[in-house]
Amino acid sequence: MNPETLKKAIKDRAKREGYRLNPDENFLESIFEGLYKNVERYGYPSCPCRLSAGIFEEDIDLVCPCLYRDPDLYHYGRCFCGLYMTEAYMNNKDKPVVPNRRPMEPAKIEKIGSRIGVKTVGARYRCKSCGNEITVDKVGGGVLICCGQEMELIKEDK
Ligand code: SF4
Repeated sequence: MNPETLKKAIKDRAKREGYRLNPDENFLESIFEGLYKNVERYGYPSCPCRLSAGIFEEDIDLVCPCLYRDPDLYHYGRCFCGLYMTEAYMNNKDKPVVPNRRPMEPAKIEKIGSRIGVKTVGARYRCKSCGNEITVDKVGGGVLICCGQEMELIKEDK
């Protein structure tokens, strides 16, 4: 991968998914540069606006497009860095500040299988970041994850 193929892949992806990229060409270039620098540093395009550990398993939620992009686009119209945007955000005069919804502790997704997770059909869980709520239909025993962190149990049915 070289800087041009990375740039093209991001542009193609935005088109495919119906998102826009930041219209400020200079800003866009600085994000592309940051992503490519991380490809050179770590071997993957880790988010240029957050601190990476340099270990793929710990940074998996930060590989662009990060795990937080879609909830951020849904709630604010723009990803944390400002690379991806929605049409509505671009036309909106108010530009809300996008908080960093990455948990303080990096998502340790590879460790999840070893913990005790969902136990009850009918239990309800909520994501503390994006607010998604789900009800368990079938128990598999795993841990539910949303936005890179464990979902919170809000109601345990019998
Ligand atoms: S915040 Fe934007 S630029 Fe950063 S990783 Fe997520 S999608 Fe990519």
